[in-house]
Amino acid sequence: ARRLAAEAPITPGALADGAPVPLLANLGSVGGAAEALRLGAEGVGLFRTEFLFLDADRAPSVAEQQEQYTKLLNEFAGKKVVVRVLDAGADKPLAFLNDAEEENPALGLRGIRALRRSEAVLREQLTALAAADAATDAELWVMAPMIATVEETRYFTALAAELGIRTAGVMIEVPAAALLADRVLDACAFASIGTNDLTQYTMAADRLLGTVAQLQSPWHPAVLRLIEEVGAAGARTGTPVGICGEAAADPLLAVVLVGLGATSLSMSPSALADVRASLARYGLEDARAIAGAALATEGAAEAKRAATAAAESVR
Ligand code: PEP
Ligand code: MG
Repeated sequence: ARRLAAEAPITPGALADGAPVPLLANLGSVGGAAEALRLGAEGVGLFRTEFLFLDADRAPSVAEQQEQYTKLLNEFAGKKVVVRVLDAGADKPLAFLNDAEEENPALGLRGIRALRRSEAVLREQLTALAAADAATDAELWVMAPMIATVEETRYFTALAAELGIRTAGVMIEVPAAALLADRVLDACAFASIGTNDLTQYTMAADRLLGTVAQLQSPWHPAVLRLIEEVGAAGARTGTPVGICGEAAADPLLAVVLVGLGATSLSMSPSALADVRASLARYGLEDARAIAGAALATEGAAEAKRAATAAAESVR
């Protein structure tokens, strides 16, 4: 019986009432693909491309990148794959893209800001992605990190379209982008909320600094309100809103995020089973009630307690 259970097909992510919530994998290299699929990933919600550039003193060539992206898309044939263009800077500095002498690198030239200054690197990456897309049959979506403004959103989606990317979106991880979410979402095909940076920037607490770790919880209602803003904008504009920060890997917070309007969740593959089981316990109305309980608090610990109590009462 144990063997049979281990081999039973893994069902797609869904709430108790059957509403689908695709469960996707965060991957940092092509090597993790097989394991993600084995654990039931329905696609990739965040493919971090930094690994291709690490320790390099120049960007890899279009051909080198195309080879990696083609491998990735072939692993996920027929499935959705969201690739993030290079997120260099702050906690992921690259000598040839970032200014080493910045005093506050998390607030400096990182993500789309650094790419825009070195646009040739971005053009080559998008060109390699478009070529890999044309040669494979996964559903490729491409997104930009650290978007703060509507204008940056338009810049990225226009460049992506020019270079042959069919579906271009943005990460929402800067509070300004969350607060103007309906304008940002009007200008792109999808959004994915990066709760790691969204929490860092909302709480003004460095994500790498242990002394302010107390402030870094994505359960904080200030963070949840911003996510609610983005979820509502997604519903109003008919734009998919995924979550790809660590928050999506917390089984109860995952329910809250769906209650706030997230339409898919992406996480490290080891978290998929627990999140899948948790979502299957609640309907959409339950998820909204649980999210409402968390929102109506004044701090992270209280939000988590309130969500836990609400979850007990609807089960
Ligand atoms: C995030 O900020 O939540 C995110 C998913 O991106 P990264 O952790 O790579 O900055
Ligand atoms: Mg981030």
